[in-house]
Amino acid sequence: MSTPAATPHRCVVCGSGDAATIWSVARAPTHAVRPAGMDAASGFGQLDIAACSHCGHLSNRAFDTDAADELYGALVLTNEPVSPGMIAAVDETAGLIMRHLKQAPAVLEVGGGGGALSLALARRSARVDLVEPSRALGPERFAGTGVTLHRAMFPVTALAGRRFDAVVCRQVIEHVPEPAPFLAALRGSLADDGIAYLELPSADDILRRHSIVDFHYPHVHYYRRAKMELLLARAGFAIAEVFDIKQGHDMGFLLRAAKPLVHEAQASSDVSPSKFAAALAERRARGAQRLAAIDGPIALYGANAYAQALLGLYQETTPFAAMFDDTASYAGRCVYGPAGEITIEPPRSERLAGMAAVVIPAYLHDAEIARKIAAMGFRGPVYTLRAHGVNTPGPIASLFDP
Ligand SMILES: [Zn+2]
Repeated sequence: MSTPAATPHRCVVCGSGDAATIWSVARAPTHAVRPAGMDAASGFGQLDIAACSHCGHLSNRAFDTDAADELYGALVLTNEPVSPGMIAAVDETAGLIMRHLKQAPAVLEVGGGGGALSLALARRSARVDLVEPSRALGPERFAGTGVTLHRAMFPVTALAGRRFDAVVCRQVIEHVPEPAPFLAALRGSLADDGIAYLELPSADDILRRHSIVDFHYPHVHYYRRAKMELLLARAGFAIAEVFDIKQGHDMGFLLRAAKPLVHEAQASSDVSPSKFAAALAERRARGAQRLAAIDGPIALYGANAYAQALLGLYQETTPFAAMFDDTASYAGRCVYGPAGEITIEPPRSERLAGMAAVVIPAYLHDAEIARKIAAMGFRGPVYTLRAHGVNTPGPIASLFDP
């Protein structure tokens, strides 16, 4: 079942060239959201998620590294906080970082998306340099805020040689094909007495819950905690604290500058790739069965990476009828998959009333969204893309759980 990669595969953790495919999708959308009316044949990539035969590290060996800069430059800004829960989470992260800093610190944020965290840090009197390649972001958003935007891929020449009291990098490293030079550049930007904060999705969580929608095109690498700790030590970071975020979906590392690790012990993998692949395949089949059993139009709620993954998996067999999202800037944009595009619209009672079921891709906010659509009068079945875990059913039915 393994597909030959375009370039020889080499594990970024252990250097091994052997790997086995555990998950594949032939035509995965490369963007979660894009403008309407684009060439229907463009914007697809292949998922060939492979487990390193030596250390078990998971990565998409079909990821097109040469197209990465273009992919991130063209991204529509996603993950903008649109609900009270999301805004509170950004504030909490800003508070956490500021607790470790002197007054009026110089902060570097790498890959800040819409800049919500940079702005929250600047409100707490940090001077923030934000490096973000998305062309959707303009400097006018940051006028008078204390945030300086560098619209580029990191590292940027304008900041060469600068050392910062804090270096913040959230939800970026999983997109970077070669993590070692990237982490070295982050380390090079950090003052000797500074702190760094790195946040990323946890592959331990994917392994625990068998969450198939967490595999989506923009993520090249899926790091388990131990693997990331090893890469951080090699780059010259000492781990001060590790945080479980969103009930373990993500992990956050608070880091200090240290000497790079030279000698290291390599652990082999404790996961059977074939068993893991079989468990994922079972979930894929169960999702298809649940969708096929819904008699009538199905709406999606939450135009994010998990919707992107869902469309790549099922749109050819399931005609999704509507895509609801609360992000105002998504007006006129769409999600898309192998069977075409779906315009994003704000949720309205009249539109919801015509739906046979609602599936919530924004599963990290499923309870909040379920309450909202119930308040709008929707009484039909509601599914979340959350994989609750093997024997722990949650309050909202999962599309994939047994
Ligand atoms: Zn490896």
